[in-house]
Amino acid sequence: MNDLARLIRAVPDFPRPGVLFRDITPLLADAGAFARCIDLLAEPWLGQGVRAVCGIESRGFIFGAALAQKLDAGFVPLRKPGKLPPPLVEVDYRLEYGTDRLQARDDALRPGERTLVADDVLATGGTLAAARELVARLGGELAGAAVVIELGALGGRARWGDGPPLHALVRY
Ligand code: 5GP
Repeated sequence: MNDLARLIRAVPDFPRPGVLFRDITPLLADAGAFARCIDLLAEPWLGQGVRAVCGIESRGFIFGAALAQKLDAGFVPLRKPGKLPPPLVEVDYRLEYGTDRLQARDDALRPGERTLVADDVLATGGTLAAARELVARLGGELAGAAVVIELGALGGRARWGDGPPLHALVRY
């Protein structure tokens, strides 16, 4: 566990009873810690030819955009429905209750563009799997995934499987 973990607040019973929510806002509010977090997120990807970072709405935008700057790559927002104008490419995915959808502009990536997906938290892995599928449909080449927090008990890493690397900074 690294020193960033002490700036991640554990909030019991949010957003529903029985859920222990990991709140990253104290980390964002600490200038030094936020900068260090982005440095550490970028480290495994330096020199890997990443040209685009896809951030997942909404906390993935915060880390993904800063990471894109650090890697000298472009930033692509993967958005929830109703936010982006057409033409769009989209992927539906299952949540614990119901389904959700991620969308991107259909020309968001160039063919074969080396692309990283970024989010704040890996839990069950459904969101990251949807982002991975969206990158494939957009014609990008997936370099891997970068998350700040991995909730190990929820099986997200197994769902991600072998293949492109998945790097997490803090594991619970
Ligand atoms: P998954 O699809 O892996 O089950 O859930 C990951 C998504 O849910 C991420 O986009 C993340 O923002 C959100 N999420 C799930 N649990 C938490 C949590 O404890 N804290 C935060 N900040 N986000 C969470």
